[in-house]
Amino acid sequence: MIQIGDKQFEEYLTPDQIQSYVQSLAAQIDRDYAGKDLLILGILNGSFLFVADLAKYMTSDPEISFLKFASYDGTSSTGNVKDLIGINEDLADKHILIVEDIVDSGTTLAHIMGLLESKGAASIQTATLFFKPEAYKQDIELRYIGKEIPNLFVVGYGMDYLSKGRNLTGLYQLKP
Ligand code: 5GP
Repeated sequence: MIQIGDKQFEEYLTPDQIQSYVQSLAAQIDRDYAGKDLLILGILNGSFLFVADLAKYMTSDPEISFLKFASYDGTSSTGNVKDLIGINEDLADKHILIVEDIVDSGTTLAHIMGLLESKGAASIQTATLFFKPEAYKQDIELRYIGKEIPNLFVVGYGMDYLSKGRNLTGLYQLKP
């Protein structure tokens, strides 16, 4: 059990379990993208550890970059739309893999897809280490899923609570 701020969390996945999910995803991605120019786009902040480990397990030679949502809310008529920082690369004709730490409602992913769709990529697929199927509200296919988890708040392995806990090597679930 660990305490972060006012909340208590219990270990849900050990570091070894997480590494085995990451390793398995790396092998699948290597196999599926063999002979193709792959650009991995990690979504910050949460994906920094996942992308680092994934890249180390991969035997191919992908380009790796990161995207981050600007920390201000835009004033678009569609509501809380935020700009993405970091799309500096030429995405034309590249095979893009969006890499997320966790997909919950899928709102973030849908937003990213919307922003990347017009950039002329050869393909756009998604990899997420963790997925909460009970919370998912989109119909975007998640091509690579490390592990489905219950609809409970988690911290660790890149994910925070009150900006803490990102460097935990295991995954911890909020104690009910
Ligand atoms: P979505 O847009 O799919 O609802 O949520 C995606 C983002 O919300 C993730 O990239 C992550 O930053 C954050 N998020 C979703 N679920 C959790 C969770 O259980 N714990 C933490 N720390 N962040 C989460």
